[in-house]
Amino acid sequence: MEHLKNYINGELVEPISRRYLDNYEPATGRVYSYVPDSDERDVEFAVSAAEKAFPAWSVTPAQERARFLLHIADLITQNLDFLAHAESIDSGKPLSLAKSMDIPRAASNFSFFASAILHFASEAHTMEDTVLNYTLRKPIGIAGCISPWNLPLYLFTWKIAPALAAGNCVIGKPSEITPMTAYLFSKLCQEADLPAGVLSIVHGVGSKAGAAISRHPKIGAISFTGGTKTGSEIARVAAPLFKKLSLELGGKNPVLIFADCDYSTMLETTVRSAFTNQGQICLCGSRVFIQRSLYEKFKADFVARAKKLNVGDPLLEGVDQGALISQAHKAKILSYIELAKQEGGRILCGGGEVKLSGRCQDGSFIAPTVIEGPSYDCRTNQEEIFGPVVTIMPFDTEEEVLQYANSTPYGLASILWTGDLTRAHRVANQLQSGIVWVNCWMVRDLRTPFGGMKQSGIGR
Ligand code: NAD
Repeated sequence: MEHLKNYINGELVEPISRRYLDNYEPATGRVYSYVPDSDERDVEFAVSAAEKAFPAWSVTPAQERARFLLHIADLITQNLDFLAHAESIDSGKPLSLAKSMDIPRAASNFSFFASAILHFASEAHTMEDTVLNYTLRKPIGIAGCISPWNLPLYLFTWKIAPALAAGNCVIGKPSEITPMTAYLFSKLCQEADLPAGVLSIVHGVGSKAGAAISRHPKIGAISFTGGTKTGSEIARVAAPLFKKLSLELGGKNPVLIFADCDYSTMLETTVRSAFTNQGQICLCGSRVFIQRSLYEKFKADFVARAKKLNVGDPLLEGVDQGALISQAHKAKILSYIELAKQEGGRILCGGGEVKLSGRCQDGSFIAPTVIEGPSYDCRTNQEEIFGPVVTIMPFDTEEEVLQYANSTPYGLASILWTGDLTRAHRVANQLQSGIVWVNCWMVRDLRTPFGGMKQSGIGR
């Protein structure tokens, strides 16, 4: 079985401790490779490599940095099938999704920031005939980029690419649960001849490798995506060191459906926004509020569509729902389904495990689950479940649905369905949410600011 390696100072190296962690394939429940269990010594090695690389990289002309980034983007695209296959095995997501979403987006993260840096302009302010003030933007130095398991290469590159484009050196730590594509990506960086030390990738658990990055005094910025609790711990450690912090955290996103919407587009998209990647996308809509006059029709159609989703081996064609990331995560989701019942929810479909046979008999699978009616302020509707579990509930007035939608501590994204343009603007303006999608989902020009309000994040 393969032992993955850290990528430090341009080389693939073993962790200094020579210790490794098991890496599981979620669909089979079996260990299929080993991940470096890095500690502060590996982070120190990466920091010293970055310190050496920074003086040259930070003054490398933007055009040349852009060329490196474009080369990496091309290599990702050329290896799309291979990377998608690796990501499906590593994360349990359907291969089709890794091919159509994760890997193409990882490539476009690099190509987007490669061109953005060439078009970058800084501000100047003139004071009539006296002085001209201008702003110089400088790279910070070394940025630490820590990412989660749900969109492994997509989110890892979303952090790394802009930091490199701006002339920073980067120390990245992918999730220990899904390290494979970051490891393969480090080989692509070698192939692209990225100068040694400009990017290092240190694998390992959050409490060791991740914490060593957050507290390292020479790492001036932390870009973190993950759970709100972890974000709070990173802020606690990094804030007294005055690090620049970007925290992209959890969500509990509402879907607001008004009766005047385009019904078929809404229905098709609401199924996707609920269950894509088994509901394990921070932007999934997990609380669906439907105007009362449409409620019964929506309920029947939505449940029928959820029941039709094909749960199976993520590597097979035609599979809509793959495996959950781990047995522990499956147990957490099942416990929330039990909680929903205690809180007065009625299971309309799903509600339990799916047992597959053959290769996937020990994998973690849950049927897409729709729950009617626990109240908007109960734990089921307030806490992030992060799985294929959606609650539905009717509403009567705009005021009422805004109260439901805004009631959680989170404020990442909202999805609004209406044919009334005036209402769309009025309601969107009152949603406490970093993004409001109107009559669509997961469509975003990368120039648009991204990030949540409240406990969903800070620091853009
Ligand atoms: P997590 O917080 O457990 O882990 C995320 C990363 O942080 C991992 O690499 C982990 O090793 C590391 N980490 C853990 N403890 C650390 C510490 N003390 N110091 C430094 N690093 C540490 O999150 P997860 O379970 O991997 O991901 C799921 C969560 O991510 C969900 O809450 C989801 O909503 C959120 N998420 C948010 C966004 C967004 O854009 N807002 C996107 C995707 C996922």
